[in-house]
Amino acid sequence: MKLTKRQENILEIVSNYGPITGERIAEMLTLTRATLRPDLAILTMSGLLEARPRVGYFHSGKSRYRVVAEKLNSVLVDSVKSVPIVVSEKCFVYDAVVTMFIEDVGTLFVVKEGGLLEGVISRKDLLKTTLGGHDIQKLPVKVVMTRMPNLVLTTPEETVWLAAKKIMAHEVDALPVVRKVSLADGSEGLEVVGRLSKTNITRLFVELGEGY
Ligand code: ADP
Repeated sequence: MKLTKRQENILEIVSNYGPITGERIAEMLTLTRATLRPDLAILTMSGLLEARPRVGYFHSGKSRYRVVAEKLNSVLVDSVKSVPIVVSEKCFVYDAVVTMFIEDVGTLFVVKEGGLLEGVISRKDLLKTTLGGHDIQKLPVKVVMTRMPNLVLTTPEETVWLAAKKIMAHEVDALPVVRKVSLADGSEGLEVVGRLSKTNITRLFVELGEGY
């Protein structure tokens, strides 16, 4: 959050003289209390200052970066994820290329029956196959995808921050958002319920910057 010069001045006064009343801060800045009201509201809403009746304003003890960190750690993948774009394990590389163009995404998830996750296909996976001179109308996606158990995953309940760390650590563009499901044979599968891409994270970043 970018503070104005006046807000910076208020923070400085509060750190030197707090707890201090709004009237007193206004006096020190030679402004009216009414002029200061929006600034004080912003500083308390952002968690940088706290206000108590008959006591006044004092520092919340949070650094500005801690406020941002708290916000990032409170946003869950569920609230920023996109719809997953999937292709069947039975389809061919040609179909995957077409789906990627039609759906305008860079990562496809390969699923078997019941929407259970099998693999991931990225743009480069598809480009690589073109170098091999294969007939992409006959080459199954299963041959070119990255498959379980090598997939990096996230869940709706994970924080966006942790998911973003996985994206950085594994150098991938997107993570399948999955949920464990029990299958009829007693085993467990992973149902794909979303897609978390770098775009989702960039969008959140922009929204945070706008002060949402
Ligand atoms: P691009 O190929 O467009 O650069 P990525 O960096 O996401 O896109 O993909 C690089 C490689 O990592 C590809 O081989 C892809 O199959 C694989 N990959 C992509 N996403 C994941 C993921 N979530 N987990 C594991 N591997 C992935």
